[in-house]
Amino acid sequence: MVHAAELIRRKRDGERIPADELGELVLEYARGNVPDYQMAAFCMAVFFRGLDGAETFALTDAMIRSGETIELGAAIGRKVVDKHSTGGVGDKTSLAVGPIVAACGVPFGKMSGRGLGHTGGTLDKLESIPGFRVELTTEEFLRQVRDVGLAIIGQSANLVPADKLLYGLRDVTATVDNVSLIAASIMSKKIAAGADAIVLDVKVGDGAFMKTLENARELAQMMLELGRHAGREVACVLTDMDQPLGHAVGNALEIRETIATLRGEGPPDFTELVLAACGHLLAFSDLGVDEQTGRERAVATVQDGSALAMYERWIAAQGGDPAETALPTAPVVHAVAAPQAGFVRAIGAVDVGMAALRLGAGRRTKDDEIDHAVGVICLKKRGDAVAAGEPIAEVHARDEASAARAGDEVLAAYTFGDEAPPARPIVLETIS
Ligand code: URA
Repeated sequence: MVHAAELIRRKRDGERIPADELGELVLEYARGNVPDYQMAAFCMAVFFRGLDGAETFALTDAMIRSGETIELGAAIGRKVVDKHSTGGVGDKTSLAVGPIVAACGVPFGKMSGRGLGHTGGTLDKLESIPGFRVELTTEEFLRQVRDVGLAIIGQSANLVPADKLLYGLRDVTATVDNVSLIAASIMSKKIAAGADAIVLDVKVGDGAFMKTLENARELAQMMLELGRHAGREVACVLTDMDQPLGHAVGNALEIRETIATLRGEGPPDFTELVLAACGHLLAFSDLGVDEQTGRERAVATVQDGSALAMYERWIAAQGGDPAETALPTAPVVHAVAAPQAGFVRAIGAVDVGMAALRLGAGRRTKDDEIDHAVGVICLKKRGDAVAAGEPIAEVHARDEASAARAGDEVLAAYTFGDEAPPARPIVLETIS
Protein backbone atom coordinates (compact mmCIF):
# COMPACT_ATOMS: atom_id res chain seq x y z
CA MET A 1 0.00 0.00 0.00
CA VAL A 2 1.39 3.41 -0.96
CA HIS A 3 2.42 5.65 1.95
CA ALA A 4 1.23 9.03 0.63
CA ALA A 5 2.39 11.15 3.59
CA GLU A 6 5.89 9.72 3.21
CA LEU A 7 5.98 10.52 -0.53
CA ILE A 8 4.74 14.07 0.17
CA ARG A 9 7.52 14.53 2.74
CA ARG A 10 10.20 13.18 0.40
CA LYS A 11 9.08 15.42 -2.50
CA ARG A 12 8.77 18.38 -0.11
CA ASP A 13 12.40 17.80 0.90
CA GLY A 14 13.50 17.71 -2.74
CA GLU A 15 13.97 13.95 -3.21
CA ARG A 16 13.50 12.15 -6.51
CA ILE A 17 10.58 9.72 -6.32
CA PRO A 18 11.26 6.37 -8.06
CA ALA A 19 8.95 5.54 -11.00
CA ASP A 20 7.19 2.61 -9.29
CA GLU A 21 6.29 4.64 -6.18
CA LEU A 22 5.13 7.67 -8.16
CA GLY A 23 3.06 5.41 -10.43
CA GLU A 24 1.49 3.69 -7.43
CA LEU A 25 0.55 7.03 -5.86
CA VAL A 26 -1.24 8.18 -9.03
CA LEU A 27 -3.04 4.86 -9.57
CA GLU A 28 -4.14 4.64 -5.94
CA TYR A 29 -5.40 8.21 -6.14
CA ALA A 30 -7.41 7.35 -9.27
CA ARG A 31 -8.86 4.31 -7.43
CA GLY A 32 -9.99 6.56 -4.59
CA ASN A 33 -7.51 5.15 -2.09
CA VAL A 34 -5.53 8.38 -1.65
CA PRO A 35 -7.63 11.38 -0.53
CA ASP A 36 -7.69 14.72 -2.36
CA TYR A 37 -5.94 16.54 0.50
CA GLN A 38 -2.86 14.31 0.26
CA MET A 39 -2.74 14.52 -3.53
CA ALA A 40 -3.13 18.32 -3.32
CA ALA A 41 -0.20 18.48 -0.90
CA PHE A 42 1.85 16.29 -3.22
CA CYS A 43 1.04 18.56 -6.21
CA MET A 44 2.12 21.60 -4.18
CA ALA A 45 5.40 19.87 -3.27
CA VAL A 46 5.87 19.16 -7.02
CA PHE A 47 5.05 22.77 -7.80
CA PHE A 48 7.94 23.95 -5.61
CA ARG A 49 10.43 21.10 -6.10
CA GLY A 50 9.62 20.04 -9.69
CA LEU A 51 9.83 16.64 -11.34
CA ASP A 52 12.81 15.54 -13.40
CA GLY A 53 12.49 13.85 -16.79
CA ALA A 54 12.23 10.30 -15.38
CA GLU A 55 9.59 11.33 -12.84
CA THR A 56 7.57 13.12 -15.54
CA PHE A 57 7.68 9.97 -17.72
CA ALA A 58 6.52 7.89 -14.74
CA LEU A 59 3.68 10.30 -13.96
CA THR A 60 2.52 10.34 -17.61
CA ASP A 61 2.74 6.58 -17.88
CA ALA A 62 0.71 6.02 -14.68
CA MET A 63 -1.94 8.51 -15.82
CA ILE A 64 -2.30 6.62 -19.12
CA ARG A 65 -2.53 3.30 -17.23
CA SER A 66 -5.30 4.68 -15.01
CA GLY A 67 -7.86 4.09 -17.81
CA GLU A 68 -8.51 2.73 -21.29
CA THR A 69 -6.52 3.63 -24.38
CA ILE A 70 -7.66 3.85 -27.99
CA GLU A 71 -5.70 2.66 -31.02
CA LEU A 72 -7.16 5.29 -33.33
CA GLY A 73 -4.93 4.62 -36.34
CA ALA A 74 -5.50 0.85 -36.19
CA ALA A 75 -9.28 1.32 -35.79
CA ILE A 76 -9.50 3.74 -38.73
CA GLY A 77 -6.95 1.93 -40.89
CA ARG A 78 -5.19 5.23 -41.62
CA LYS A 79 -2.64 7.45 -39.95
CA VAL A 80 -4.65 9.85 -37.74
CA VAL A 81 -3.46 13.31 -36.73
CA ASP A 82 -4.45 15.43 -33.73
CA LYS A 83 -3.73 18.88 -32.37
CA HIS A 84 -3.85 20.34 -28.90
CA SER A 85 -3.47 23.79 -27.43
CA THR A 86 -2.24 24.59 -23.95
CA GLY A 87 -5.17 27.01 -23.63
CA GLY A 88 -5.76 30.65 -24.44
CA VAL A 89 -8.31 33.42 -24.92
CA GLY A 90 -10.30 33.33 -28.17
CA ASP A 91 -8.64 30.07 -29.13
CA LYS A 92 -10.97 28.32 -31.56
CA THR A 93 -8.15 26.88 -33.68
CA SER A 94 -9.24 23.22 -33.60
CA LEU A 95 -12.71 24.16 -34.87
CA ALA A 96 -11.22 25.50 -38.12
CA VAL A 97 -8.25 23.13 -38.37
CA GLY A 98 -10.42 19.99 -38.11
CA PRO A 99 -12.65 20.71 -41.16
CA ILE A 100 -9.68 21.89 -43.27
CA VAL A 101 -7.54 18.85 -42.52
CA ALA A 102 -10.51 16.52 -43.07
CA ALA A 103 -11.37 18.32 -46.34
CA CYS A 104 -7.79 17.55 -47.45
CA GLY A 105 -8.62 13.86 -46.95
CA VAL A 106 -6.85 13.28 -43.62
CA PRO A 107 -8.86 11.79 -40.72
CA PHE A 108 -9.03 14.08 -37.68
CA GLY A 109 -10.31 12.65 -34.40
CA LYS A 110 -9.99 14.76 -31.32
CA MET A 111 -11.03 14.71 -27.70
CA SER A 112 -11.31 18.21 -26.27
CA GLY A 113 -11.81 19.82 -22.90
CA ARG A 114 -13.94 22.47 -21.27
CA GLY A 115 -12.91 25.99 -20.32
CA LEU A 116 -10.54 26.49 -17.46
CA GLY A 117 -10.25 29.80 -15.62
CA HIS A 118 -10.06 32.66 -18.12
CA THR A 119 -9.41 30.25 -21.04
CA GLY A 120 -12.30 28.95 -23.14
CA GLY A 121 -12.88 25.29 -23.95
CA THR A 122 -13.58 23.77 -27.36
CA LEU A 123 -16.48 21.69 -25.99
CA ASP A 124 -18.23 24.74 -24.55
CA LYS A 125 -17.91 26.47 -27.92
CA LEU A 126 -19.35 23.46 -29.76
CA GLU A 127 -22.25 23.29 -27.33
CA SER A 128 -23.41 26.73 -28.46
CA ILE A 129 -24.52 24.98 -31.68
CA PRO A 130 -28.13 23.82 -31.15
CA GLY A 131 -28.36 20.02 -31.00
CA PHE A 132 -24.61 19.35 -31.10
CA ARG A 133 -23.62 16.24 -29.10
CA VAL A 134 -20.17 16.27 -27.55
CA GLU A 135 -20.66 12.90 -25.90
CA LEU A 136 -20.33 10.06 -28.37
CA THR A 137 -19.48 6.50 -27.43
CA THR A 138 -16.03 5.35 -28.48
CA GLU A 139 -17.69 3.27 -31.24
CA GLU A 140 -19.67 6.29 -32.53
CA PHE A 141 -16.51 8.41 -32.40
CA LEU A 142 -14.50 5.89 -34.42
CA ARG A 143 -17.32 5.39 -36.93
CA GLN A 144 -17.63 9.14 -37.48
CA VAL A 145 -13.87 9.64 -37.96
CA ARG A 146 -13.96 6.77 -40.46
CA ASP A 147 -17.15 7.83 -42.33
CA VAL A 148 -17.09 11.64 -42.13
CA GLY A 149 -13.36 12.12 -41.58
CA LEU A 150 -13.83 14.32 -38.52
CA ALA A 151 -15.13 14.10 -34.96
CA ILE A 152 -14.46 16.30 -31.93
CA ILE A 153 -15.88 15.01 -28.67
CA GLY A 154 -15.47 15.29 -24.90
CA GLN A 155 -12.90 13.11 -23.27
CA SER A 156 -14.47 9.71 -22.55
CA ALA A 157 -14.87 8.96 -18.85
CA ASN A 158 -12.57 5.98 -19.11
CA LEU A 159 -9.73 7.81 -20.79
CA VAL A 160 -7.08 9.02 -18.32
CA PRO A 161 -9.43 9.24 -15.31
CA ALA A 162 -6.40 10.19 -13.19
CA ASP A 163 -6.06 13.43 -15.18
CA LYS A 164 -9.75 14.26 -14.76
CA LEU A 165 -9.35 14.04 -10.99
CA LEU A 166 -5.93 15.65 -10.82
CA TYR A 167 -6.87 18.47 -13.16
CA GLY A 168 -9.91 19.42 -11.08
CA LEU A 169 -7.76 19.31 -7.96
CA ARG A 170 -4.93 21.40 -9.48
CA ASP A 171 -7.43 23.98 -10.73
CA VAL A 172 -8.57 24.76 -7.18
CA THR A 173 -5.20 24.41 -5.40
CA ALA A 174 -3.09 26.81 -7.52
CA THR A 175 -1.00 23.96 -8.93
CA VAL A 176 -1.91 24.15 -12.64
CA ASP A 177 1.07 26.11 -13.95
CA ASN A 178 3.89 23.65 -13.49
CA VAL A 179 5.68 22.43 -16.63
CA SER A 180 5.83 18.73 -15.63
CA LEU A 181 2.22 18.60 -14.45
CA ILE A 182 0.95 20.33 -17.62
CA ALA A 183 3.11 18.17 -19.91
CA ALA A 184 1.96 14.94 -18.23
CA SER A 185 -1.69 16.07 -18.24
CA ILE A 186 -1.74 16.97 -21.95
CA MET A 187 0.44 14.15 -23.24
CA SER A 188 -1.27 11.40 -21.23
CA LYS A 189 -4.56 12.36 -22.90
CA LYS A 190 -3.05 12.67 -26.37
CA ILE A 191 -1.22 9.35 -26.12
CA ALA A 192 -4.23 7.51 -24.64
CA ALA A 193 -6.54 8.94 -27.35
CA GLY A 194 -4.34 7.23 -29.92
CA ALA A 195 -3.40 9.72 -32.68
CA ASP A 196 -0.17 8.84 -34.52
CA ALA A 197 1.01 12.42 -34.95
CA ILE A 198 0.29 15.45 -32.79
CA VAL A 199 0.76 19.18 -33.32
CA LEU A 200 0.97 21.04 -30.03
CA ASP A 201 0.14 24.73 -29.87
CA VAL A 202 2.01 26.09 -26.85
CA LYS A 203 0.62 29.49 -25.99
CA VAL A 204 3.01 32.13 -24.66
CA GLY A 205 2.20 35.41 -22.93
CA ASP A 206 -0.19 37.19 -20.62
CA GLY A 207 -3.21 35.03 -21.50
CA ALA A 208 -1.33 31.71 -21.35
CA PHE A 209 -0.16 29.42 -18.53
CA MET A 210 3.40 29.91 -19.87
CA LYS A 211 4.19 33.61 -19.53
CA THR A 212 7.69 33.55 -21.08
CA LEU A 213 9.23 32.01 -24.20
CA GLU A 214 11.75 30.25 -21.98
CA ASN A 215 9.02 28.45 -19.99
CA ALA A 216 7.10 27.67 -23.18
CA ARG A 217 10.24 26.13 -24.74
CA GLU A 218 10.73 24.00 -21.65
CA LEU A 219 7.12 22.78 -21.80
CA ALA A 220 7.36 22.13 -25.56
CA GLN A 221 10.58 20.15 -25.14
CA MET A 222 9.09 18.05 -22.35
CA MET A 223 5.95 17.26 -24.38
CA LEU A 224 8.06 16.37 -27.44
CA GLU A 225 10.07 13.92 -25.35
CA LEU A 226 6.95 12.36 -23.83
CA GLY A 227 5.38 11.97 -27.28
CA ARG A 228 8.49 10.46 -28.86
CA HIS A 229 8.93 8.12 -25.91
CA ALA A 230 5.43 6.82 -26.75
CA GLY A 231 6.32 6.46 -30.45
CA ARG A 232 4.33 9.49 -31.67
CA GLU A 233 5.45 12.18 -34.11
CA VAL A 234 5.17 15.58 -32.45
CA ALA A 235 5.75 19.20 -33.48
CA CYS A 236 5.25 22.23 -31.25
CA VAL A 237 4.34 25.70 -32.40
CA LEU A 238 4.93 28.42 -29.81
CA THR A 239 2.30 31.07 -30.44
CA ASP A 240 1.49 34.55 -29.16
CA MET A 241 -1.13 34.83 -26.41
CA ASP A 242 -0.30 38.39 -25.35
CA GLN A 243 -3.64 39.45 -26.83
CA PRO A 244 -6.80 37.45 -27.60
CA LEU A 245 -6.58 35.29 -30.73
CA GLY A 246 -8.71 36.67 -33.57
CA HIS A 247 -11.49 39.07 -32.62
CA ALA A 248 -14.12 36.92 -30.89
CA VAL A 249 -14.03 35.74 -27.27
CA GLY A 250 -17.15 33.83 -26.21
CA ASN A 251 -18.73 30.63 -27.38
CA ALA A 252 -21.24 31.33 -30.18
CA LEU A 253 -19.23 34.41 -31.22
CA GLU A 254 -16.20 32.15 -31.73
CA ILE A 255 -18.23 29.66 -33.77
CA ARG A 256 -19.28 32.55 -36.04
CA GLU A 257 -15.63 33.58 -36.41
CA THR A 258 -14.70 29.99 -37.25
CA ILE A 259 -17.33 29.88 -40.01
CA ALA A 260 -16.06 33.22 -41.38
CA THR A 261 -12.52 31.83 -41.37
CA LEU A 262 -13.59 28.70 -43.24
CA ARG A 263 -15.14 31.06 -45.78
CA GLY A 264 -11.80 32.85 -46.15
CA GLU A 265 -12.94 35.91 -44.20
CA GLY A 266 -11.20 35.28 -40.87
CA PRO A 267 -8.94 37.61 -38.87
CA PRO A 268 -5.32 37.56 -40.13
CA ASP A 269 -3.68 36.24 -36.91
CA PHE A 270 -6.21 33.43 -36.49
CA THR A 271 -6.09 32.49 -40.19
CA GLU A 272 -2.29 32.37 -40.09
CA LEU A 273 -2.25 30.10 -37.03
CA VAL A 274 -4.86 27.77 -38.56
CA LEU A 275 -2.90 27.46 -41.82
CA ALA A 276 0.40 26.91 -39.99
CA ALA A 277 -1.14 24.13 -37.88
CA CYS A 278 -2.73 22.56 -40.98
CA GLY A 279 0.64 22.64 -42.79
CA HIS A 280 2.27 20.68 -39.94
CA LEU A 281 -0.62 18.23 -39.61
CA LEU A 282 -0.76 17.48 -43.34
CA ALA A 283 3.03 17.02 -43.45
CA PHE A 284 2.62 14.41 -40.67
CA SER A 285 -0.25 12.69 -42.49
CA ASP A 286 -0.10 9.80 -44.96
CA LEU A 287 -0.63 12.19 -47.91
CA GLY A 288 3.14 12.31 -48.39
CA VAL A 289 3.32 16.10 -48.75
CA ASP A 290 5.71 18.59 -47.18
CA GLU A 291 4.60 21.44 -44.95
CA GLN A 292 4.47 24.03 -47.74
CA THR A 293 2.33 21.81 -49.98
CA GLY A 294 0.15 20.98 -46.97
CA ARG A 295 -0.41 24.64 -46.38
CA GLU A 296 -1.26 25.24 -50.04
CA ARG A 297 -3.79 22.41 -49.95
CA ALA A 298 -5.30 23.89 -46.79
CA VAL A 299 -5.67 27.27 -48.51
CA ALA A 300 -7.29 25.57 -51.52
CA THR A 301 -10.01 23.92 -49.36
CA VAL A 302 -10.98 27.33 -48.02
CA GLN A 303 -11.02 28.86 -51.50
CA ASP A 304 -13.06 26.09 -53.14
CA GLY A 305 -15.61 25.82 -50.30
CA SER A 306 -14.74 22.23 -49.34
CA ALA A 307 -13.58 23.21 -45.83
CA LEU A 308 -16.90 24.92 -45.09
CA ALA A 309 -18.81 21.97 -46.61
CA MET A 310 -16.84 19.62 -44.34
CA TYR A 311 -17.68 21.80 -41.31
CA GLU A 312 -21.39 21.54 -42.14
CA ARG A 313 -21.17 17.76 -42.63
CA TRP A 314 -19.32 17.31 -39.36
CA ILE A 315 -21.70 19.46 -37.30
CA ALA A 316 -24.74 17.69 -38.78
CA ALA A 317 -23.14 14.27 -38.12
CA GLN A 318 -22.96 15.15 -34.42
CA GLY A 319 -26.60 16.27 -34.38
CA GLY A 320 -25.98 20.03 -34.65
CA ASP A 321 -27.53 22.68 -36.88
CA PRO A 322 -24.61 24.08 -38.93
CA ALA A 323 -26.48 27.25 -40.02
CA GLU A 324 -24.97 30.41 -38.62
CA THR A 325 -28.50 31.74 -38.05
CA ALA A 326 -29.16 28.88 -35.60
CA LEU A 327 -26.52 30.20 -33.17
CA PRO A 328 -27.77 32.10 -30.11
CA THR A 329 -27.38 35.88 -30.05
CA ALA A 330 -27.16 38.15 -27.01
CA PRO A 331 -29.97 40.72 -26.55
CA VAL A 332 -27.61 43.62 -25.75
CA VAL A 333 -24.65 44.73 -27.89
CA HIS A 334 -22.65 47.52 -26.28
CA ALA A 335 -19.92 49.41 -28.15
CA VAL A 336 -16.67 50.29 -26.35
CA ALA A 337 -15.19 53.54 -27.70
CA ALA A 338 -11.52 54.58 -27.92
CA PRO A 339 -10.88 57.31 -25.31
CA GLN A 340 -8.17 58.92 -27.48
CA ALA A 341 -6.70 58.81 -30.97
CA GLY A 342 -3.53 56.75 -31.49
CA PHE A 343 -2.58 53.10 -31.72
CA VAL A 344 -3.53 50.04 -29.73
CA ARG A 345 -0.30 49.08 -27.96
CA ALA A 346 -1.57 46.07 -26.00
CA ILE A 347 -4.74 44.15 -25.07
CA GLY A 348 -4.57 42.20 -21.82
CA ALA A 349 -5.75 38.73 -22.82
CA VAL A 350 -6.54 37.62 -19.26
CA ASP A 351 -8.59 40.76 -18.64
CA VAL A 352 -10.66 40.25 -21.80
CA GLY A 353 -11.03 36.54 -20.95
CA MET A 354 -12.19 37.42 -17.44
CA ALA A 355 -14.63 40.06 -18.73
CA ALA A 356 -16.15 37.41 -21.02
CA LEU A 357 -16.23 34.91 -18.15
CA ARG A 358 -18.05 37.37 -15.88
CA LEU A 359 -20.60 38.02 -18.64
CA GLY A 360 -21.35 34.28 -18.42
CA ALA A 361 -19.17 32.89 -21.23
CA GLY A 362 -17.10 30.86 -18.75
CA ARG A 363 -17.44 29.24 -15.35
CA ARG A 364 -16.48 30.60 -11.96
CA THR A 365 -17.13 27.22 -10.36
CA LYS A 366 -17.23 23.76 -11.90
CA ASP A 367 -21.04 23.66 -11.82
CA ASP A 368 -21.78 27.08 -13.38
CA GLU A 369 -24.02 27.11 -16.47
CA ILE A 370 -22.53 28.80 -19.52
CA ASP A 371 -24.35 31.53 -21.45
CA HIS A 372 -23.32 30.65 -25.00
CA ALA A 373 -24.48 33.92 -26.58
CA VAL A 374 -22.38 36.40 -24.60
CA GLY A 375 -18.79 37.54 -25.01
CA VAL A 376 -16.50 40.21 -26.39
CA ILE A 377 -15.43 41.15 -29.92
CA CYS A 378 -12.06 42.94 -29.99
CA LEU A 379 -12.65 44.97 -33.16
CA LYS A 380 -9.24 46.64 -32.84
CA LYS A 381 -6.11 44.59 -32.22
CA ARG A 382 -2.52 45.42 -31.26
CA GLY A 383 -0.99 47.81 -33.78
CA ASP A 384 -4.32 49.12 -35.15
CA ALA A 385 -4.79 52.89 -35.50
CA VAL A 386 -7.86 54.31 -33.75
CA ALA A 387 -9.68 57.64 -33.84
CA ALA A 388 -11.04 59.14 -30.60
CA GLY A 389 -14.55 57.77 -30.00
CA GLU A 390 -14.20 55.00 -32.60
CA PRO A 391 -15.52 51.58 -31.47
CA ILE A 392 -12.62 49.34 -30.42
CA ALA A 393 -14.68 46.46 -29.06
CA GLU A 394 -18.22 45.14 -28.70
CA VAL A 395 -19.66 43.54 -25.60
CA HIS A 396 -22.45 41.00 -26.22
CA ALA A 397 -24.42 40.71 -22.99
CA ARG A 398 -27.62 39.44 -21.38
CA ASP A 399 -28.55 42.87 -19.95
CA GLU A 400 -27.50 46.54 -19.90
CA ALA A 401 -25.88 46.43 -16.45
CA SER A 402 -23.55 43.52 -17.25
CA ALA A 403 -22.80 45.09 -20.65
CA ALA A 404 -21.71 48.38 -19.05
CA ARG A 405 -19.57 46.60 -16.44
CA ALA A 406 -17.87 44.42 -19.05
CA GLY A 407 -17.41 47.47 -21.29
CA ASP A 408 -15.38 49.17 -18.53
CA GLU A 409 -13.34 46.00 -18.00
CA VAL A 410 -12.60 45.64 -21.72
CA LEU A 411 -11.59 49.29 -22.02
CA ALA A 412 -9.22 48.84 -19.05
CA ALA A 413 -7.65 45.87 -20.88
CA TYR A 414 -6.59 48.14 -23.79
CA THR A 415 -3.40 50.23 -23.72
CA PHE A 416 -3.02 53.08 -26.24
CA GLY A 417 -0.01 55.06 -27.41
CA ASP A 418 1.14 57.51 -30.06
CA GLU A 419 3.08 54.89 -32.00
CA ALA A 420 2.28 51.40 -33.18
CA PRO A 421 4.15 48.71 -31.20
CA PRO A 422 6.60 46.50 -33.13
CA ALA A 423 4.78 43.84 -35.14
CA ARG A 424 4.87 40.36 -33.61
CA PRO A 425 4.04 37.23 -35.64
CA ILE A 426 1.41 34.83 -34.29
CA VAL A 427 3.75 31.84 -34.65
CA LEU A 428 6.82 32.76 -32.59
CA GLU A 429 8.80 29.53 -32.99
CA THR A 430 8.43 25.96 -34.14
CA ILE A 431 10.16 23.10 -32.29
CA SER A 432 10.17 19.65 -33.87
N1 URA B 1 -4.38 21.71 -20.52
C1 URA B 1 -4.42 20.44 -20.01
O1 URA B 1 -5.04 19.54 -20.58
N2 URA B 1 -3.75 20.19 -18.86
C2 URA B 1 -3.05 21.13 -18.20
O2 URA B 1 -2.50 20.84 -17.17
C3 URA B 1 -3.04 22.45 -18.74
C4 URA B 1 -3.70 22.72 -19.90
